[in-house]
Amino acid sequence: MRRDVFTEEHELFRAQFRRFAEKEIEPKIAEWNERGMSDRETWRRAGEQGFLGAAAPVEYGGAGGDFLYDAIIMEEMSWIRAHAMMISLHSDIIMPYLITYGSEEQKRRYLPGAISGDILLGIAMTEPGTGSDLANVQTKARRDGDDYVLDGAKTFISNGQIGDLFIVVARTDPNADPPHRGISLILVEADTPGFVRGRKLDKLGLRGQDTSELAFDNCRVPVSNVLGQQGQGFKMLMEKLQQERLCIAVASIASCRRALHDTIEYVRERRAFGQPIARFQNTQFKLAELATEVEIGQAFIDKLLAAHVRGDELVTEVSMAKWWSTDLQKRLTSECVQLHGGYGFMLEYPIAMDYADAAVQSIYAGTNEIMKVIIARRLGLE
Ligand SMILES: Cc1cc2nc3c(=O)[nH]c(=O)nc-3n(C[C@H](O)[C@H](O)[C@H](O)COP(=O)(O)OP(=O)(O)OC[C@H]3O[C@@H](n4cnc5c(N)ncnc54)[C@H](O)[C@@H]3O)c2cc1C
Repeated sequence: MRRDVFTEEHELFRAQFRRFAEKEIEPKIAEWNERGMSDRETWRRAGEQGFLGAAAPVEYGGAGGDFLYDAIIMEEMSWIRAHAMMISLHSDIIMPYLITYGSEEQKRRYLPGAISGDILLGIAMTEPGTGSDLANVQTKARRDGDDYVLDGAKTFISNGQIGDLFIVVARTDPNADPPHRGISLILVEADTPGFVRGRKLDKLGLRGQDTSELAFDNCRVPVSNVLGQQGQGFKMLMEKLQQERLCIAVASIASCRRALHDTIEYVRERRAFGQPIARFQNTQFKLAELATEVEIGQAFIDKLLAAHVRGDELVTEVSMAKWWSTDLQKRLTSECVQLHGGYGFMLEYPIAMDYADAAVQSIYAGTNEIMKVIIARRLGLE
């Protein structure tokens, strides 16, 4: 079905990005997956071509487009399975914090480098003892004159090894009541003394993505590194999570499309009992059902994309899209592995990695259970 959320200009941008991705990204994916990390050179090339911060303001070097340009990048990256290079985390999840809440000085200092690919971004919320219950973060930022001194540990941080600038969620007021009012967002450059990169974690899926532990050991940063207002960190996180969760839903459906496409090709080729397995009614029904769900999901997500670009508040609907599309991705990749038979279990077949990569989608950016907690609360079920 023709999608009407994108204009002709968006589609030209898609063609341009696709050419770039085929030439500069796709050939490197296997090596990145082997190494567990993307490379800075490709980030810089993407920056040069205007593919980082496509929606960032022109005065800092951005393209001044809308979120749909970023959505296109997400879809294309998901289609080629370029999970190692998290452009969307950098441009659509973290950069918006700087754009919306950064002081003029912070924006001038960091945005041009982030847009050119010289400053790679990360966000450090999760801690070994605290994930879903974000208001309970224990990393402390103690005021000392004109500085904050950070102490604590973070885990599962994307871009942990390769990142240059991190938004750190820290407790600036240990006595705040309720506790979430004591949380602030603090910008920490990776070369700050006391900023320690820990282990790069070995994962089931997203093998090319750098996910790491971080520690802060007497890590001193000026008070001017606070993003937005002190004590407003939790509120800012809640405001920006709508876009983060929409990003996951967009990528999820795009990944579903790729897995489905490859499986349809496979079942047409593979023969059993003297005929292509595509001829078995079970194969046809399974794929017909999955294709239906993908189209339904896409229609919902396109509607959300248009509404998000308009600036609508969509916390409930985006939470629905996040859990539903990632749940579909898990079911769909599982069915597609089954339709590949033993080959589906072999890592040389991309569907095997699709299955492993899908597992995390229902966990990060707020688990699917948390999505349902949010929806239920908004239905008045408390
Ligand atoms: C590959 C990867 C990349 C990541 N990147 C980042 C990053 O860049 N920055 C960052 O800060 N974090 C990142 N994370 C962390 C991620 O956001 C957390 O893993 C996630 O929020 C869940 O937290 P947790 O792992 O502590 O699980 P828990 O919070 O311990 O949850 C465990 C289980 O309990 C359930 N549960 C918890 N609370 C409730 C409740 N109220 N009701 C019902 N069920 C509940 C959860 O849904 C889950 O099933 C990443 C994680 C992964 C795996």
